[in-house]
Amino acid sequence: METPENEVFRDSIGTIDEEGKRNWIFPKKPSGPYWEKRKLVSYFLLAFLFAAPFIKINGNQFLMFNVLERRFNIFGFPFWPQDFHLFVISMIIGVVFITLFTVGFGRIFCGWICPQTIFMEMVFRRIEFWIDGDRNKQIRLKKQKWDAEKIRKRTLKWFIFLVISFLIANIFLAYLIGGDKLLRYVKEGPSEHLGTLFPLLIFTGVFYFIFAWFREQVCIIACPYGRLQGVLLDNKSIVVAYDHKRGEGENGRKKFRKNEDRDALGHGDCIDCFQCVHVCPTGIDIRNGTQLECVNCTACIDECDTIMEKIDKPKGLIRYASEDNIEKKEPFKLTARMKGYIAVLVILIGVLLGMLALRNDVEARVLRLPGQLYEHKDNDIISNVYTYKLVNKTTEAIDNVSFKLRGIDGEIKLVSTSDTFTVKENGLAEGTLFIELKQSDLSGDKNTLTIDVYSGDKLIETTSVSFLGPRSYN
Ligand code: SF4
Ligand code: SF4
Repeated sequence: METPENEVFRDSIGTIDEEGKRNWIFPKKPSGPYWEKRKLVSYFLLAFLFAAPFIKINGNQFLMFNVLERRFNIFGFPFWPQDFHLFVISMIIGVVFITLFTVGFGRIFCGWICPQTIFMEMVFRRIEFWIDGDRNKQIRLKKQKWDAEKIRKRTLKWFIFLVISFLIANIFLAYLIGGDKLLRYVKEGPSEHLGTLFPLLIFTGVFYFIFAWFREQVCIIACPYGRLQGVLLDNKSIVVAYDHKRGEGENGRKKFRKNEDRDALGHGDCIDCFQCVHVCPTGIDIRNGTQLECVNCTACIDECDTIMEKIDKPKGLIRYASEDNIEKKEPFKLTARMKGYIAVLVILIGVLLGMLALRNDVEARVLRLPGQLYEHKDNDIISNVYTYKLVNKTTEAIDNVSFKLRGIDGEIKLVSTSDTFTVKENGLAEGTLFIELKQSDLSGDKNTLTIDVYSGDKLIETTSVSFLGPRSYN
């Protein structure tokens, strides 16, 4: 089916030309009230991103995603693989929250919070403006032959990009392996930790590639969230939008001419100055309507407001608005879909809070050794072998840990030199144990036993296991 003429722009993306080659985007340096607010938000988020792996709450790193050792801290709460259900629920809450937010306010997350946009627009692009100058100078520099000025500017820019990519890679590593560990590795020197240095350099290369070359294409081509906009947005979603009714008027947009009565001629307020297009970091024309490439960065709002001020028209030709707001002047209101998402969100948060409240600081798991039956020993003793795992989710060591059977005579023998052991803070203790019971105490070939876990005299956890015995004693 042929694309309608007014939708042809959707057949291509701003970063690729008709021959399929990269269309390098040189956005104009943004300025205006939204830009200033976004700068403040970005300073806060960057400070948070860089500080979070080194902030501790109750001795736990504030945020840590140690995939290798399967340890996760979220807001200072340690999560273990045993807490996987909590992690899954938290993730589902995150997805529902982002969905709700997107249905209501479009890609606001991309423009204000996403690390990709923050680094690209607020760090790398600003360095580029500083070294290469604004849009026109950048275009000129790109076309310029490799003279002393171009070599100096390019070398300086790429070097700074590389240093920042290396810094970002270090911070990501701190989230992965822990801030303390990273600082220790730095102190001990890279030669002592070549196994870590290698992935660090790969990370650096990836970040450099993204921010120096791939850039806005992450949002346009690679980001799955961007692709979801088509199904999440509707006419009631608030997005960065061009007020086409006001901008086009009855007789369309027209270049500005001094002392011309545009209203009488039926022309809209858009003077076709292309400033909103030139400032756009994804290279689109927002006047075509909501597009997949728009990251809601608000740069075009600021730019158009400046133009409106200059031609003495009200601001807000491009603004945060829904299609229904533009078409029918409808204010924002909660839709049935949003109310549904809110209800689901409240239920999920309630479930998560309940689970967190019921979560134990210590978790014990005793499992029969796979493939082992039972052993018949002297004096009619039946023995089963188990493995145990004890997770200490607190920041203090647990001493004198021992296992005791509840409600039945019998013995638990640890395969170790001592009857008790210690579980380190945020640590895991594992080993093998035998449970020995008298045959006469068994009620069948399969029995369920309750094991109490003590620290000294204090009961800290209870778990249950199955115990196998001979069938003839049923
Ligand atoms: S900046 Fe405003 S006036 Fe200029 S082209 Fe864009 S929408 Fe029209
Ligand atoms: S259209 Fe406007 S809000 Fe969207 S990415 Fe471009 S400049 Fe940012």
